[in-house]
Amino acid sequence: MINISDLRSMGYFDAIDADKDPLKAYSNWVETKILTSRSERLVENTLGLVGEAGEVAEKVKKLIRDKSKFSNKDIIKELGDVMFYVTALANYHGSDLREVIEENIKKLESRQSRGKLKGNGDDR
Ligand SMILES: [Mg+2]
Repeated sequence: MINISDLRSMGYFDAIDADKDPLKAYSNWVETKILTSRSERLVENTLGLVGEAGEVAEKVKKLIRDKSKFSNKDIIKELGDVMFYVTALANYHGSDLREVIEENIKKLESRQSRGKLKGNGDDR
């Protein structure tokens, strides 16, 4: 398993940022890989997220349809691609991966405490 010091030794994270906040360091690192700007970036990052989520779905589809197996490593690579674009979009919207995670935890904990994990609607 790769840890923060491995990533740092590969030159991925600024040492100070990674020590203080690895999620912020990842968000900063993602920003160094962005190739587009403004509205073009919004579209490219959004399509990237959908495309990578589709790659996850495709592996599961082939598992069902063709009985072809994928390794945990294969799916983790695709989930990493999804996380890249989630982070890129969070950055675009003036946020970062940490805030996305924290807001998601708050939302789901609230739903669970109110017995609303099942059902429809963004604001339940
Ligand atoms: Mg991919």
